[in-house]
Amino acid sequence: MLSTWARNIAPSPTLAVDAKAKALKADGKDVCGFGAGEPDFDTPAFIKDACAKALAAGQTKYTPTPGIPALRKAISADYNTRGFAIAENQVVVSPGGKMSCYLAILATVSPGDEVLIPAPYWVSYPEMVKLAGGVPKFILSGDSTGFKITPGQLKAAITPKTRLLILNSPSNPSGAVYSKAELGALANAALQAGLLILSDEIYEHLLYDGQKITHPALLSPAAAEQVITVSGFAKTYAMTGWRLGTLVASKEIAGAVADLQSQTTSNVTTFAQHGALAVYEHPDLARASLAEMLAHFDRRRLKLLAGLNAIPGITCHRSQGAFYLFPNISAFGLGSNEFCARLLDEELVAAVPGSAFGTEGYLRLSYATSDATIEKGLERLAHFCKKLA
Ligand code: PLP
Repeated sequence: MLSTWARNIAPSPTLAVDAKAKALKADGKDVCGFGAGEPDFDTPAFIKDACAKALAAGQTKYTPTPGIPALRKAISADYNTRGFAIAENQVVVSPGGKMSCYLAILATVSPGDEVLIPAPYWVSYPEMVKLAGGVPKFILSGDSTGFKITPGQLKAAITPKTRLLILNSPSNPSGAVYSKAELGALANAALQAGLLILSDEIYEHLLYDGQKITHPALLSPAAAEQVITVSGFAKTYAMTGWRLGTLVASKEIAGAVADLQSQTTSNVTTFAQHGALAVYEHPDLARASLAEMLAHFDRRRLKLLAGLNAIPGITCHRSQGAFYLFPNISAFGLGSNEFCARLLDEELVAAVPGSAFGTEGYLRLSYATSDATIEKGLERLAHFCKKLA
């Protein structure tokens, strides 16, 4: 008999779609994959070189659990140039932003505590909350508000049991980016109610149309204590397989996160940390590789957006962050699970159903894929929609 935790957890639906698409590809099928949540570029050479050099130099032993001192120092210095005022011991480097989020939740949520999660949400948040014994509570948004919740909705959802609000701007899956005013209003409502905020900023550098990142931790002195900021290297530098996440919080919370990590995974792979350090040692190279990747993403975003909105029955909000679009397919009268299953079977196009993110009537399409895949995928999607109409 499996444990309560094992019986209650749902497997990641996004990884499942990706696995099915990869299996069809391995069978020789010409699949257009829009499922992946990772950049389709390789990690920049200067980062790989720094890692290889560290490995050759014998950097193969345990490090301090929260990260090598040089990396924690570089991360805190980088945040401090953006207005933070943090010390190195407020930074914890974890095996992936996913682990950073999970440890943040474990460090702050006790059994029975409620955690507010705006929907559509990243698939892992509710499961992480449940693993901590907490109760996920969803606040629904849709394309009519650009996939953003309002302070009124937030206030109505707060109860005496609410402990934490999770914010994720730019968002996976919707690509939505909150403005400073919008995020400020939400964060202030949460902080005034005494909540903690987990601000998952893993897509902070993937912004388009001149959008700028807002860090909720900078909104007020109270915010610096009550906001936990998570980011990482995976999406910004095409390093998904490296497993490198970062967390910045009050000394108390960062210390608890480091203690939890010390009893579970210990440090991130030592030579991988040295690769990450190269980002701060070579800021010009880091900026250039990010700018190049962003130029590709933006071109593909606009191509996919125009193509989707040209298909009768589909409407797609112009999302300005991450590498996802979240088109509305409700006009076809099919549930998003059935829509995606048939789209893959009949047209060999892999997309993730909106239901996986707690929001029916939509699909998530990742444009971290080639221009040719986008063009071919759009043709197939148009063909599929014509059959349904
Ligand atoms: N947060 C969000 C919203 C994500 O989409 C992801 C990855 O898909 C992560 C966190 C975790 O990223 P990683 O664990 O690869 O650093």
